[in-house]
Amino acid sequence: MDYSGYSPDLVFNLDIQSAFSFKCQVCSACCYNKAIPVGPYEALRLSRRLGMTTTDFYRRCTEQGTAILRNKPDGSCFFLSAGGCGAHPDRPLVCRLFPLGKIVDSGGNEKFSIMPLHPDCVGLLGEDETVESYFMSQGSEPYFHYDGVYAALHKRILEALSRRRERGTGRMAGERQLHAHGTRGDFPWQDVDATVEAFCRRLGLPKPDGLEELVALHFEALAEWLAAARA
Ligand code: SF4
Ligand code: SF4
Repeated sequence: MDYSGYSPDLVFNLDIQSAFSFKCQVCSACCYNKAIPVGPYEALRLSRRLGMTTTDFYRRCTEQGTAILRNKPDGSCFFLSAGGCGAHPDRPLVCRLFPLGKIVDSGGNEKFSIMPLHPDCVGLLGEDETVESYFMSQGSEPYFHYDGVYAALHKRILEALSRRRERGTGRMAGERQLHAHGTRGDFPWQDVDATVEAFCRRLGLPKPDGLEELVALHFEALAEWLAAARA
């Protein structure tokens, strides 16, 4: 996930052990007019909730040509229903972190800030727990893990492409899509099902059903692309 782009007015003065608690009252006021990014693992979780492939998920549930959740005409999130979030067990990471925002400073330290709340928010801010326990209560752990791994891979691929350009090497298939942040295309960066399907077909492997196995093969496909980019 790209954590940049926060308002310069925000003060990131919390760390993982800082006192913090928040009790959301599930009024849904904050689920309107948002640009919620969905990385590959998030898209995979959400697509399975809807019983579809990640390819169809991107086509039907994200803003056209992006990896940003689609909003309905009234501005509500694609997943917002009368009873609240219709994807709650599989909601994206930013929805789990809220109302905290996160940056990683130049020293590699994670810092957190309390984001501006919706004017109608009736959630209860406090200091009864810690930032860490709040994240655990939101089931954020696998999301942080996969977000970190994908972000590191993405960075390495961009660096490899940059070196290719410096050497004057030609463009690789999918390179344009990779550089357009948040977009998808025929590059395996986003679409887990399409990428793993092609990868397995080429290697004569059965395509697995399990999410962890799919993500593991997605990483393999990305690593292969990275090796080709370095060649
Ligand atoms: S995914 Fe759920 S929690 Fe997140 S903005 Fe949409 S409805 Fe709200
Ligand atoms: S506006 Fe506040 S209380 Fe309402 S759903 Fe969002 S975080 Fe929860």
